[in-house]
Amino acid sequence: MASPPTNLHFVLFPWPAQGHLIPMVDIARMLAERDVMVTVITTPVNTNRIKTVIDRAIEANLKIQVLDIQLPFAKAGLPEGCESFDMIPSVSYVANMFLAMKLLEEPAEEMLRVLYPPPSCIISDGGFHWTSDVAKRLIASSWGKGNTKETRETFERTQEAEKAAFGIVVNSFDALEPKYVEEFAKATGKKVWCIGPVSLCNKSLEDIAERGNKAANGEHDCLKWLDSREPRSVVYVCFGSFSSTLTHQAIELALGLESSNIPFVWFVSRTSDEFEKWTSEGQYEERIKGRGLMVRGWAPQILVLSHQAIGGFITHCGWNSTLEAICAGIPMVTWPHFADQFLNERFIVNVLKIGLKIGVEVPITYRGKEKFEVMVKREAIKLAVEGLMNDEDEDEAQTRRNRAKEVAQMAKKAMEDEGSSHLNLTMMIAAITEELALKNKSIKDIV
Ligand code: UDP
Repeated sequence: MASPPTNLHFVLFPWPAQGHLIPMVDIARMLAERDVMVTVITTPVNTNRIKTVIDRAIEANLKIQVLDIQLPFAKAGLPEGCESFDMIPSVSYVANMFLAMKLLEEPAEEMLRVLYPPPSCIISDGGFHWTSDVAKRLIASSWGKGNTKETRETFERTQEAEKAAFGIVVNSFDALEPKYVEEFAKATGKKVWCIGPVSLCNKSLEDIAERGNKAANGEHDCLKWLDSREPRSVVYVCFGSFSSTLTHQAIELALGLESSNIPFVWFVSRTSDEFEKWTSEGQYEERIKGRGLMVRGWAPQILVLSHQAIGGFITHCGWNSTLEAICAGIPMVTWPHFADQFLNERFIVNVLKIGLKIGVEVPITYRGKEKFEVMVKREAIKLAVEGLMNDEDEDEAQTRRNRAKEVAQMAKKAMEDEGSSHLNLTMMIAAITEELALKNKSIKDIV
């Protein structure tokens, strides 16, 4: 039976001995035949040994590549070129061979960190015990791919600081994700206080409008423009505070929105000269006039989301944006870019059931060739926007809208006096007061 296409990328580390290399290459081919991308990492001598088999697999359109890794011969006390157990001069070199394999940890990690797409799974021979640690480190700092020693250190120290904390304050509310809150507390062994959605603490128009930044421009135009639209007819597009939509993807998004026939307001941040040239040469803004609005700059997001003309939100699934859409009762088209956004997407779509996936599976890393890659095609954008906003598939779309309204009510309730978040904040302050009193008492006892 043929498998569905996947975006998985498996990395295989065969132990350098024929009895290991041969079956690992078979496994590589079996995986690639299931439409999985496979990278085999081994030394040049071993690469050469499997070359013909791999070349044939590549000719058969299997997505396999072999990457060479160099053994530190001198450091490991091995003769130059000794890259496989059948090549060691005598049994006394076995230990050196083991040492050489151990020394591959750092260079292998460097290779994995720049692989694209990022590895989804490592299959390694048992001897490469360090692949387990490398996998953990890759997951801990997989977002953004700023793979320097400093960023890794920051992540490691962040984890240590979390372990040392007295408790954890979460911008969420108990009823939104009760099981996760419970398990999170169990997993961390900490007190967890959900005190959100914190954006609901803003009551004055100024505070709401100027969160994070005074709307750079077009605020009034945008709201006035929304005033002229039918209720629930416009889709709002914004990808948060630091995701930039790369030029080719931005053009595709522009075309997707144009072809959908659904009114939209799109806040574009950090456009490129190339994108500006494209819009002006093609008179894009004239073409969409009356139906679409493109604003360059910072959106008054909460005002926009709570405007009666807004019926949907294309979001990068940043947690704040997710919560803000939840508070406004707006269903979402989910388009995660990186980090926790993919988990947030699953939560929005599969658990809360208030979103529709646009279908992106791989994070943007802003490195190398993906700069030029269009991750989401205009047809997918059109389909998702129409699916969310149109009434054609009335049942599904309506269920999503109703659910979004229900969840919004739950959010408001949590933040009211005596609501769960209100109470949690009270408990948090009480716990800190108590802890301080205990500490002061024990200091006095010592003195
Ligand atoms: N935001 C905004 N206007 C913008 C872009 C972002 O007000 O044009 C706000 C948005 O309301 C949210 C925050 O910036 O409160 C973005 O946080 P989020 O977690 O959604 O995404 P991030 O920017 O961290 O990726």
